[in-house]
Amino acid sequence: MTVPFAAAAVFAALAAPAPAMYSSAPVPHAPGRPALPVVIDAGHGGEDLGAVVKGVREKDIALVVALKLKARLKDLPVLLTRDNDRYVPLDKRVVDSVDGNGAVFVSIHLNAVRSAKASGATVYSYGPERGRGRPRPRRHPSVPPMPAPPRIAASESEFLARSMAKSLRAAGVDVESAKSDYYVLKNPAQPSVLVELGFLSNPEEAVKLAGAAYQNLLVDCLAKAIEEYASNL
Ligand SMILES: [Zn+2]
Repeated sequence: MTVPFAAAAVFAALAAPAPAMYSSAPVPHAPGRPALPVVIDAGHGGEDLGAVVKGVREKDIALVVALKLKARLKDLPVLLTRDNDRYVPLDKRVVDSVDGNGAVFVSIHLNAVRSAKASGATVYSYGPERGRGRPRPRRHPSVPPMPAPPRIAASESEFLARSMAKSLRAAGVDVESAKSDYYVLKNPAQPSVLVELGFLSNPEEAVKLAGAAYQNLLVDCLAKAIEEYASNL
């Protein structure tokens, strides 16, 4: 029963003044540093495990990478939609990011498909479905439908997704930018991307994704793209 309220809150938050903690004069900041936070969304959590392959769980790696990304972005304000192993409904993630006046929303996920061969990262922004691998069926019956994001948010999202893909590619990561209508990509108030870091269903890639070295490489690439984007806000 709280779901419709939460959906309404997204739009109420857009119309209402910013929450008290953000409503004073903009925080003074050096050029290239936005006063508004980067929202990092570790996918899944709690009873929602996400993909699980041979005991490696998407929700765990997503959280580790989100925490690393926050640490790496130490010069920028960062909000996490979760900082521990708990379930956060999709609509609450969006409401929290809108309430928090996020400058940009980055959702962290990992992929899994039947084939063990699929590999590589994918950076999604909002749009008609395309991309490698078929998206898994959505099982979010409890969240209300969200309309498409405003065109300006969608085009900014695409710009950020392409920039992230470029940053990953420059570091040697197999990556593509793609489109999807994932719930969190419909965030009405800020550019939003969803990063599938790689495929847990690919045994070689799963080992890399579970290891600190590759996680750190991915984090560094995402951070560079976020910093570059933020410096132009
Ligand atoms: Zn996921």
